[in-house]
Amino acid sequence: MTDATITPDQIAQLQTAVVDEPDTVLDAAQQAVVDALLAGNARFLAGCPEQHDYSAERTALTEGQSPVAAILSCSDSRVPPELLLDQAPGDLFVVRVAGNFVTGEGLASLEYGVELLKTRLIVVLGHTGCGAVGATLGVLRDQSILPGHIAHLVREMKPGIAREMLSDAPHLAERAVVANVHYNVRRLIHSEPILSARVADGELAIIGAVYDLNTGQVVLV
Ligand SMILES: [Zn+2]
Repeated sequence: MTDATITPDQIAQLQTAVVDEPDTVLDAAQQAVVDALLAGNARFLAGCPEQHDYSAERTALTEGQSPVAAILSCSDSRVPPELLLDQAPGDLFVVRVAGNFVTGEGLASLEYGVELLKTRLIVVLGHTGCGAVGATLGVLRDQSILPGHIAHLVREMKPGIAREMLSDAPHLAERAVVANVHYNVRRLIHSEPILSARVADGELAIIGAVYDLNTGQVVLV
């Protein structure tokens, strides 16, 4: 057995380790940002994104940045957050890694966005048809061995996905995408010392969303 596999005992441990979070409560300003992101997705869907004078916007941003949200999303070339949420340079502080899961460097980046740039909303953005989630399901299912450092990526993602394997409910791939988002939202909410403290004092909200490759729609999960 390689370290890219998981035993039934480990799955049971993961199950008991999962604690359901109370619903995240957004204040008015955070809700306004969520509404703005979803409105941007609606423009993207309608094929009528806002027009930009990128030259003027670039000049305006030379003095600094105040992104309205931080996004943890997948590296997948089909899911660029700025485009599918129709946001401009300076709007989003984006961390991308295949499988949109929390890494050390990604966490440090998000902490920078929250602590220094005062971003008050983090969105973990998964997507349907995610290759990293699919690869993790494949390893869990048949204990296949992936080449190079891809095995490391899958090893990190397994805890968030493994318990979905225990259910006979349909749409395993889609359930796994959502489970991966929820798992990483929880990881960020409990991340010490910065993010957990900001969540506790109401300065930060961390939510999950999924982008549907087929419809183009972003849905909060
Ligand atoms: Zn993906």
